[in-house]
Amino acid sequence: MAEKGNFDFIYNPILEKMRELVTPINYSTYIEKLVPVDIDGRFIILETPTELFAKYITGVLADKMREAIIKADVGISDFRLVVEGSEGYSYNAPTEEKFEQPSNLNPKYTFENFVVGKNNDFVYAAALSVAEDPAGIYNPLFIYGGTGLGKTHLIQAIANKIVTEKPDLKVIYVTSEQFTNEIIDNMFTRKPDVRDKGSRLRQYYRSADILIVDDIQFIKNKKAVQEEFFHTFNELVAKGKQIVISSDQPPKDLPDLEERLRTRFSGGLLFDILPPNFETKIAILKKKALEKKCIVPDEVLNFLAQDSGDDVRTLEGRLAKVIFASKLHEEPLSIALARNALSEAISEGGKEEITPANIIGAVAGYFHITKNDILGKSKKKEIVLPRQICCYLMCELLTIPLDSTGKELGRDHTTIIYSRNKISELCRVNDKIAKDVDDIKNIILKK
Ligand code: ADP
Ligand code: MG
Repeated sequence: MAEKGNFDFIYNPILEKMRELVTPINYSTYIEKLVPVDIDGRFIILETPTELFAKYITGVLADKMREAIIKADVGISDFRLVVEGSEGYSYNAPTEEKFEQPSNLNPKYTFENFVVGKNNDFVYAAALSVAEDPAGIYNPLFIYGGTGLGKTHLIQAIANKIVTEKPDLKVIYVTSEQFTNEIIDNMFTRKPDVRDKGSRLRQYYRSADILIVDDIQFIKNKKAVQEEFFHTFNELVAKGKQIVISSDQPPKDLPDLEERLRTRFSGGLLFDILPPNFETKIAILKKKALEKKCIVPDEVLNFLAQDSGDDVRTLEGRLAKVIFASKLHEEPLSIALARNALSEAISEGGKEEITPANIIGAVAGYFHITKNDILGKSKKKEIVLPRQICCYLMCELLTIPLDSTGKELGRDHTTIIYSRNKISELCRVNDKIAKDVDDIKNIILKK
């Protein structure tokens, strides 16, 4: 055990590795603020200044921290966080867990929140069966269907159910885009320790009990990635592990996919999701309205569901827009209001210029706070996040320089960059925030 108060000889090598693994912003904002305060067996205990820090580190940087600890090879294998001034370890305890369950799942994507209709009842039953009995009769499970029809929702529902009901099973959920980026990052580097990370990456994916890959179509045209995936796939199947894949097309229509992968995929069971019919659309709208704690009159639901051929994401977006308009104008939900809200969107789509005021108004409306909250100085969590989202959207949607964005929001240039980077990182790891940002963007763009 190290002498209390001086853990630098253990912690400095970890810091060095961390510097290579995280963005400079994350490093200077979070990692540099951590203070090593103790060693407890195989754990290093790090003190964070606030609870928010601890949450961010646990939610976003924990995997990197573990990676750095292993690479530093200083006799430590994990870490715990303690918030300055509080007693006991927090956040990443309990540490006895053998592995981290995925943090990239949207907790709202559950079977309970999924509306079953004629368009998706088979695939729903198959997905539920996989969640109840992984590596049973549906393995691999291949789900395909057009965009916005519920593939991600359903396969994350499998993950969410297993994580809560069978916590001993290791679930990995990844988009094929993320898988591709990781593999490619590793392949084209000459740095030995990054190559080393490659084998750890391989081990990581091959250690899954359930591997879920979303939007597999992105690996077409990428031979080396397909090769890597092929081996992962075979090894997992040979070990009797479950694989779930989603795609926007069936395997036979993915011409750039290697034949042997296509054969593997087709060797399992293929299920398609179709667009919902009118009744299912109504049921979905009711469920979504309930989630938003809104009562929407039947005639408005009918109006929204009338247009056939829509995907569920569009349907949900329309509902959000109408509810938003009703709150904005403080008018009850009616067909007239809905028609207005949506026709505005149709007739003006894309033409109207987006202004800082539009963005601030949309963000404030979405989070039920005021414009002054956004421009003010409150440090409350409920205000800070919307304010940062506002910065992010202004950077994304406006073509004005950062300094002007700063002036509009009464913030300096560094704060704007920090907020932009933070939200862009959060969007990557937190589906809920990604969806909020997307919804607000659609409101602003009047899509
Ligand atoms: P995909 O991955 O097929 O593009 P998503 O799973 O992202 O589609 O679904 C888009 C949105 O529609 C999500 O918010 C999801 O919750 C919702 N959704 C889709 N199908 C259903 C359904 N049957 N019941 C409830 N919500 C659904
Ligand atoms: Mg999807």
